[in-house]
Amino acid sequence: MVKPVVHVAGAGLAGLAAAVRLAGGPYDIVLHEAARQAGGRCRSYYDPALEMTIDNGNHLLLSGNCDAREFLAAIGGEEQLAGPADADFAFCDLATGERWRLRPNAGPIPWWIFASGRRVPGTGPRDYLGLLRLLVPGKDAPLGTVMRSNGLLYERLWRPFFLAALNTDPIEGSSRLASAVVRETLAKGGQACRPLVAMQGLSAAFIEPALTYLVTRGAKFFFEHRLRAIDFAEGRANALDFGDDMLPLGAADKIILAVPPSAARDLVPGLQTPGAYRAIVNAHFKIAPPQDFPPLMGIVNGTIEWLFAFPSRLSVTISGADRLLDIAREELAERIWAEVAKVTQIEKPLPTWQIIKEKRATFAATVEENERRPGAGTAYANLLLAGDWTATGLPATIEGAIRSGHRAAGMVVASQ
Ligand SMILES: Cc1cc2nc3c(=O)[nH]c(=O)nc-3n(C[C@H](O)[C@H](O)[C@H](O)COP(=O)(O)OP(=O)(O)OC[C@H]3O[C@@H](n4cnc5c(N)ncnc54)[C@H](O)[C@@H]3O)c2cc1C
Repeated sequence: MVKPVVHVAGAGLAGLAAAVRLAGGPYDIVLHEAARQAGGRCRSYYDPALEMTIDNGNHLLLSGNCDAREFLAAIGGEEQLAGPADADFAFCDLATGERWRLRPNAGPIPWWIFASGRRVPGTGPRDYLGLLRLLVPGKDAPLGTVMRSNGLLYERLWRPFFLAALNTDPIEGSSRLASAVVRETLAKGGQACRPLVAMQGLSAAFIEPALTYLVTRGAKFFFEHRLRAIDFAEGRANALDFGDDMLPLGAADKIILAVPPSAARDLVPGLQTPGAYRAIVNAHFKIAPPQDFPPLMGIVNGTIEWLFAFPSRLSVTISGADRLLDIAREELAERIWAEVAKVTQIEKPLPTWQIIKEKRATFAATVEENERRPGAGTAYANLLLAGDWTATGLPATIEGAIRSGHRAAGMVVASQ
């Protein structure tokens, strides 16, 4: 018997997660990806300047990212994530030279805020109560109007935490999205906020195992196969137009559109999506980190925000980095290296470097943009949406992308 087909357009994490959920079931799965490779904004590539394989951007997960971990467990990629057994974040203040470790205790009762060696130096337990207001459900509002956005605790903890989670200046960030992140991680205790990094690269953890999983379950892939238009008739998608070939859809066939918001807008009439983005800048330096340097360090009062230590490379992430886009790459490399050298105490001139500016790294996690996110269902019976920009309740993250794919797959199953 011929099985109905689920076509997945876009083989980023959202499309892959949907496909993995559905593979081996009552549908044939066919993925159509515009690029030459899968992974979208979460993948590895060989960088000729550094002569090594790096990721398109350093990605951090937290152990509370349950959909991401479920996905990794399904495809066999979980072993690729490395991180401490307990929540443990090293920090350095570039202005004062102070260094500390933030160590939330494992369980949900946050006694760590009473332990001076675990909380941010210079803060007291009462300072942390400000977060409670964020946890009370309420109307979405800019985070700066919901919690105090100055002072030591803000500069040393909440600003770096929310800037990384939202990729948007926390002052203008959506309180609802910030609250969702806190509820799924920090509020559950240290066990849900252990930092996890794919040390062998994003593709080795998320993409290659997913492709192997799908191929062994009979899924088909078409790369360099950009979906150019969808033919709609009688309230459903009727055919997929790839330019050179037109694919008619059978009565029970479905399409999951897991492309970025701008592409989805072009393909689906009248679709509203977020339209404002925020940049991320990554800088890589080909140099071994000092012995015993932590794998991840948060930096405050500098240009750099997070420093990742890989075996032969130091790598920096700067979120909400639109202000840096017009700075010449050489100048940026020098500026960032000066800070990295100070933090690591490596007294060497600028090593071989690479700067990657992702202008449209994520949609801006503001109240306005969050309101523009559509759900997975559409006006067309057999067309579903997935992607980190759909209404997942989370900011644009690996967790949000994978959850959106899981949700779209769940709707396919429910519609059988
Ligand atoms: C530099 C950077 C750093 C990040 N850091 C983190 C982090 O630390 N932690 C975290 O959780 N998240 C992070 N993110 C966010 C995370 O990478 C994304 O949320 C996630 O990868 C988005 O997946 P997606 O499938 O929704 O979209 P995408 O990855 O954009 O996938 C969409 C896919 O659709 C394809 N496509 C486009 N048009 C078409 C078409 N017409 N037909 C067919 N295919 C098409 C694209 O080629 C792409 O492969 C970061 C992102 C960047 C860019």
